[in-house]
Amino acid sequence: MREANANLPVPFNWPPETGGELKLVADAMRRHAISGGGYYTRSCEAWFEDKLHAKRALLTHSCTAALEMAAMLADLEPGDEVIMPSYTFVSTANAVVLRRAVPVFVDIRPDTLNLDESLLEAAVTRRTKAIFVVHYAGVCVEMDAVRDVAARHGLLVVEDAAHALMATYRGELAGTLGDLACLSFHETKNIVSGEGGALLVNRAEYVARAEVLRDKGTNRARFLQGQVDKYSWVDIGSSYVPSELVAAFLRAQLDAVEQITADRVATWNRYHKAFAGIETRGGVRRPSVPPHCCHNGHIYYLLLPTREIRDRLIKDLTKDGINAIFHYVPLHSSEAGRRHGRAGGSMAVTEDLSGRLIRLPLWYGMAELRERVVECTSRYLDRLAAAGA
Ligand SMILES: *Cc1c(COP(=O)(O)O)cnc(C)c1O
Repeated sequence: MREANANLPVPFNWPPETGGELKLVADAMRRHAISGGGYYTRSCEAWFEDKLHAKRALLTHSCTAALEMAAMLADLEPGDEVIMPSYTFVSTANAVVLRRAVPVFVDIRPDTLNLDESLLEAAVTRRTKAIFVVHYAGVCVEMDAVRDVAARHGLLVVEDAAHALMATYRGELAGTLGDLACLSFHETKNIVSGEGGALLVNRAEYVARAEVLRDKGTNRARFLQGQVDKYSWVDIGSSYVPSELVAAFLRAQLDAVEQITADRVATWNRYHKAFAGIETRGGVRRPSVPPHCCHNGHIYYLLLPTREIRDRLIKDLTKDGINAIFHYVPLHSSEAGRRHGRAGGSMAVTEDLSGRLIRLPLWYGMAELRERVVECTSRYLDRLAAAGA
């Protein structure tokens, strides 16, 4: 864990350590089978199958890999369309583009910054095959409405739940809400293994093919279960399984998931309380969490009045030794996004909010360092309010 030294800069992210990782990695080494799919891979997968009721959880080397597998399972043909937000990480869209399908970007809600479910119906065409949702900042998308549109048009629902482990929607955990769900354990996420991810398969009919896709397009999983007498190349696929060393590290993190989440939520709550006054006075907006959603403290952001003020705040905080950052550059406006995707309507909210958003440092075990973030950010925001008054 990082020492809370008042003179050191406050990093934006600091990967959580639980103290149990090395013991399990050493144990994985002692088993002398450190490629993927062994004891710790199965142990982590069992954790997800138990906790998130997945029909099958498959560890992957990244959420990007899990998204690629989801796009393969969606059976996308060239020219098929997948509806998704533009305000997301590139991997959500890349997975679709790699299948020569077209990401169709829809705008986000001004309150949660999640895909605006009221725009879905209008974005559906004859070519639409799936909806990829992203639970931004660990606040769930309005899944009832998404599932309703999906059911009426026969679309697959894939959750990019990279931000959302342990977040809930109407009491149900993120990752259980779609047909397929993708998790990330990249070092910037709540639970980490350096790089890492998982595909949660919530529909039984996708399980067998998902196993093949992860295993280079071979039926090795069925071979190991004794269901076929030799294994061979049966489908497309790639090498998506992480090594046992990574899985062992992740296993230790999973044991601490409640503690890590609670600590992050405590920092989130501290920020939220500290900036309530400045929001009331106007000019700055805090995150908004619908009453039926429970977030996991993944991101704390503020929306500043203008892009210039946001950029200035990032610079000022850097001078104070606080590493605050902005977030996604909307995909529809990026070079590859313009080439491979299209906007399914106005992107006004995405364009506006992405330019005004700042993310504050938020990691497990920040302790009193978060007070420095509160103090410096408040000082700047107070100056801003005074100038505006
Ligand atoms: C981090 C992230 C990803 C990619 O995760 P990796 O594990 O780094 O591949 C995908 N989508 C979203 C929304 C993310 O935040």
